Amino acid sequence: MDLHGLDDDERVIAETAAAFAEKRLAPHALEWDATKHFPTDVLREAAELGMAAIYCNDDVGGSGLRRLDGVRIFEALSYADPTVAAFLSIHNMCTWMVDTHGTAEQRKSLVPRLASMELIASYCLTEPGAGSDAGALRTRAVRDGDSYVLDGVKQFISGAGASDVYVVMARTGGDGPRGISAFVVEKDTPGLSFGADEYKMGWNAQPTAQVVFEGARVPADAMLGGSDGEGAGFGIAMNGLNGGRINIAACSLGGAQAAYDKAAAYVRDRVAFGGSLLDEPTIRFALADMATALEASRSLLWRAASALDDGHPDKVTLCAMAKRYVTDSCFTVADQALQLHGGYGYLNEYGVEKIVRDLRVHRILEGTNEIMRVVIGRSEAARIRAT
Ligand SMILES: Cc1cc2nc3c(=O)[nH]c(=O)nc-3n(C[C@H](O)[C@H](O)[C@H](O)COP(=O)(O)OP(=O)(O)OC[C@H]3O[C@@H](n4cnc5c(N)ncnc54)[C@H](O)[C@@H]3O)c2cc1C
Repeated sequence: MDLHGLDDDERVIAETAAAFAEKRLAPHALEWDATKHFPTDVLREAAELGMAAIYCNDDVGGSGLRRLDGVRIFEALSYADPTVAAFLSIHNMCTWMVDTHGTAEQRKSLVPRLASMELIASYCLTEPGAGSDAGALRTRAVRDGDSYVLDGVKQFISGAGASDVYVVMARTGGDGPRGISAFVVEKDTPGLSFGADEYKMGWNAQPTAQVVFEGARVPADAMLGGSDGEGAGFGIAMNGLNGGRINIAACSLGGAQAAYDKAAAYVRDRVAFGGSLLDEPTIRFALADMATALEASRSLLWRAASALDDGHPDKVTLCAMAKRYVTDSCFTVADQALQLHGGYGYLNEYGVEKIVRDLRVHRILEGTNEIMRVVIGRSEAARIRAT
């Protein structure tokens, strides 16, 4: 990451994340991928550096930083391991949801423990029958005295089984998004269980599984925002996703930058047809396109993060644009980096094929890139109509 133009604080934040990533993530990334090891101990070390509650308020243990700092942190971490960085992004999203939408009591009791990762959090929106159309979710939370009783299945949940708390969007009212509330559910709640860890293309250093609720009884004050949170869950989930989208895009950027740097070193050192591959004009064209895509991605990402920080009226659209463009472009860069390695790129030990596998899912989750186009297209249509 080019730190030119950053002030001292911004530079220290980005450098701290990069140093941590180089020392604690990079040496183990391939092994964690191969053994499907979820490094919770290393995540807690990241939390000690303030990376588990990055843009949460400091009165409850958050780091009080900006989204712009956040995307630089996630780029730096994912330069070493996009999978571990991406999980930390999801945890940050949950922590922010509690800090921003929780009651004073929820903030005080949960955020400090989330910030230290004494509690690790998962985000539970998707269901087997409701992915892109999340507003149609069917998990029910029925009020019974001082409790709610949850029934339903959440699909593809990152961290499922390993996390300590689950931020669960469930239906407390009628059909549609306004009938949804958010709950913070503890792992040891009777009636809560987990499916088998999914066997995936990438993201192997974090578990993905179903989260199953069968008569899971939680206290009424588990509803995020208390009684004000009734029917507010879908909005809370979508607010969380604005930040989630730019963070996941930052994870694509870091991974793609690492793949690019590996490819650049490879073509410099690889001799063919009597010279370095770096001297081939077509190889330089490929590098030119890749470097341009990385710079364009970073520019758009920083713009979207600043928009979120500043409450820009187009922040939702800008976050969707950044998510769509950066995750698509950076996947192409990573794939091209693999190509530039020739057959070696296909071998695990060079580390590029892992990046390609890890980055592929960023085009699918936190809202697919087709749904990003739906979001952007909707706002463009409204803008065009108004002119
Ligand atoms: C590894 C992994 C981890 C995940 N982690 C989490 C998690 O922690 N928490 C969580 O809640 N979810 C998680 N997800 C779920 C993820 O967010 C969903 O998979 C995603 O939102 C898409 O939903 P779906 O899979 O049901 O696809 P569908 O919604 O069924 O979509 C299928 C296809 O149709 C397209 N499509 C759908 N609607 C439209 C439309 N209106 N216009 C154009 N195209 C459309 C989609 O873009 C997609 O290409 C994870 C998924 C994976 C694979």
